[in-house]
Amino acid sequence: MATAESHGKYCGGKLIVKKVIKRGHVASLKISCISTNRARHSYQWSSSPYLPNGKYLINERINHAFLCSGMLPSHYTRFCNGARMGILSVDARDNFFKKYKIFVKEEYEESTNTALLEEIGSYEDLDGIDIITDARHGWRKNAQDTSVVAIGEQTHKVLNCVHVTKADDPVTQRHEKHGTEQVYRELDQKQVSVKVHTHDRNMAINKLVKQSKNGLTTNQNDTWHGVKSVKKAMATVSSGPMYLKERKWSEELHDKVESVATHFHWSIRNSEGDASRLTANLDNIVEHYKGNHKECHSTSRCRTDPNYESKRVIIQSPVAEKLLNSVIKNSIIYKIQTILD
Ligand SMILES: [Zn+2]
Ligand SMILES: [Zn+2]
Repeated sequence: MATAESHGKYCGGKLIVKKVIKRGHVASLKISCISTNRARHSYQWSSSPYLPNGKYLINERINHAFLCSGMLPSHYTRFCNGARMGILSVDARDNFFKKYKIFVKEEYEESTNTALLEEIGSYEDLDGIDIITDARHGWRKNAQDTSVVAIGEQTHKVLNCVHVTKADDPVTQRHEKHGTEQVYRELDQKQVSVKVHTHDRNMAINKLVKQSKNGLTTNQNDTWHGVKSVKKAMATVSSGPMYLKERKWSEELHDKVESVATHFHWSIRNSEGDASRLTANLDNIVEHYKGNHKECHSTSRCRTDPNYESKRVIIQSPVAEKLLNSVIKNSIIYKIQTILD
């Protein structure tokens, strides 16, 4: 517009596009005028501004977008050709990638280091952190690859991301284990130990965590999520509006939200993979809080200490008993004992 305007001020000739050259996604135009007085005014115009390094802003932007999208090169090529919007050459993309990589790595280091510090800072005890890991399988450069991501249990921020390719291990099924080992190595280098490691029920990871060299890490096959929902259910039966008191919730359960959750963790650990023992342990929670310790574990304080007095309110109301019972029996852990490996 500005070019046409300024040209119009001193020349009555009509501007026409003489030539269009595509440079990546940028159109570079040669514009000339058809003048009656035989003057030939010509201009060079491009559809993108320049960056200080002389490159086109639009091309750098598309390169950036392409790398961040996770789009496969073949999809990019097909899309650009189909849309006829120009295309960046393989060389241009490779050169950009080489430069870009350095900054991504820097950002990654900074981001994960900060996240790790935040995660460590959110625990009262400084002896370790809890992590959640999962693997994502995908394709890169026509070969199957896997990303193993570890997030902090408290902050849910990414603490580590390991990329495993067929070059690391030709067997894709072993990629998650390979990546998880790498996560442990890197946390170890940063002198951070893992207290609870939650993941889906991948048997190889179960084995890996159990064999971890210090044996200090607790392996959790998502029982964490199971116990978390127990806490949620406990919260709804331990407080509420006055008019529902002793009907939908009970005062007697008010001090038992955390302790019932702990009891669940304890029951899982002390069932040694035996489903019927787990059921019995969980069923006994109600009896324990009623003050009947006959079936409690022989090592429990309520059995070993003759002067044992529960810190918690003893359950006497049938409503409280019924509510606690329903929380236990409706929990995913009670229903699916197969959660144990
Ligand atoms: Zn002119
Ligand atoms: Zn007991």
